[in-house]
Amino acid sequence: MKICIIGTGYVGLVAGTCFAESGNDVICVDVDEAKIEGLKQGVIPIYEPGLKELVIRNFAEGRLSFTTDLAAAVKVSLINFIAVGTPPGEDGSADLQYVLDVARVIGRNMEGFKILVDKSTVPVGTADKVRGVVREELQKRGRDIEFDVVSNPEFMKEGAAIDDFMKPDRVVIGTDNVRTGEIMKELYSPFMRKTNRLIIMDIRSAEMTKYAANAMLATKISFMNQIANLCDRMGADVSAVREGIGSDSRIGYDFLFPGVGYGGSCFPKDVKALVKTAEENDYDFMLLKAVEEVNELQKLVLTDKIIRCLGDGSTESLKGRTIAIWGLSFKPRTDDMREAPSVVIISRLLELGAKVCAHDPEAIKEARKIFGDRITYSNNQYEILKGADALAIVTEWNEYRTPDFERIKTLLKRPLIFDGRNLYEPSRIKEAGFEYLPIGRNGKH
Ligand code: NAD
Repeated sequence: MKICIIGTGYVGLVAGTCFAESGNDVICVDVDEAKIEGLKQGVIPIYEPGLKELVIRNFAEGRLSFTTDLAAAVKVSLINFIAVGTPPGEDGSADLQYVLDVARVIGRNMEGFKILVDKSTVPVGTADKVRGVVREELQKRGRDIEFDVVSNPEFMKEGAAIDDFMKPDRVVIGTDNVRTGEIMKELYSPFMRKTNRLIIMDIRSAEMTKYAANAMLATKISFMNQIANLCDRMGADVSAVREGIGSDSRIGYDFLFPGVGYGGSCFPKDVKALVKTAEENDYDFMLLKAVEEVNELQKLVLTDKIIRCLGDGSTESLKGRTIAIWGLSFKPRTDDMREAPSVVIISRLLELGAKVCAHDPEAIKEARKIFGDRITYSNNQYEILKGADALAIVTEWNEYRTPDFERIKTLLKRPLIFDGRNLYEPSRIKEAGFEYLPIGRNGKH
């Protein structure tokens, strides 16, 4: 099939590449000229495991191309995926300007039947807005061309995006047109080998499904973070509690790991947008407001522990202290720093007068854009420990899971680890001679 993907970010580039890999002709479009030029030279703007090889191969084999010329791409494509950003506006609602801009250009340039697919995460009712904008443009041109708008939210996880796209748990298609539903089914059929869960539903339900999924996951995280904070106060171990509750098949084990709060480009903005959608529909989504508030407070838990342990009670409580940070990206296997808890944690440490040196396998370049020279960086996870007062673990990269503890001990001024991701067994690490402060595991808060 001839496909155009508009917006060559995490979602668009992965989706476009995977559609090309399954034999389609895909044109990826972006307004960012540097990004498009880079992609033509094999420079991948994001870090996503396995992506680079797939892009280079499909580009070389002629199934994947890159352009800034949306008008030309639309003319030759049947299916047009809109995968541009939908950042939060000032009031928390999803900002649809980029989605609607794209719809406008499509309306201005289409010559025959087109399917427009909302792949971006967009609030309920957006498909109607997209349809309205395209109709308006067609009217201006005095043309009456048939088109259809589909909602096809994306559930991929950064860090595992290729695998998620190739072998999805489910694909949701919102459409009110049987023929379009069949075309979308055919497009996705190569990806239905793991499960045949392609769920066709009405457009509004598909739009809501994406928000409900992310809101549910964010709720699980905030719930478990509060349980962990209470465990810390009561001398209980949240890992044991997780085992205990996860074994109930109604609950399950997934997504019940406490930590330093959720981040990334999706959960925070999607939770905010759903709260706003509810408000606009005279409904108070109290639960999600609490989820958000808990998450903001959770980002402070690790620094609170650091202050209690190393601070002197003054406003510049950590002056003269150096904290080594392991992990900057909002989660492992990505370089994405959007809404990363590390940003709040490091900013607070700096405000309190501490010096910060940080390691991350992929996100240092992104972190430099935020912190510049206010912190120091190293590509060596041990180098930053030399002379630091403590190590604080913020992101659970695999390379932090079984480190050389003896080496850590010789490098740190004091064998003190604040673990925002509960990577180690408290009893074992204490035996190894460390003071260890995880989240919800040893009664110290
Ligand atoms: P991104 O910021 O990485 O990429 C968006 C791209 O769109 C950018 O390259 C930007 O230059 C381009 N763009 C903006 N306006 C354009 C226009 N008019 N024409 C062409 N290109 C344009 O965003 P992302 O993370 O890929 O997310 C895109 C959407 O998918 C969002 O709605 C997001 O909520 C949703 N989503 C993201 C993820 C994820 O893991 N990142 C997962 C599921 C859904």
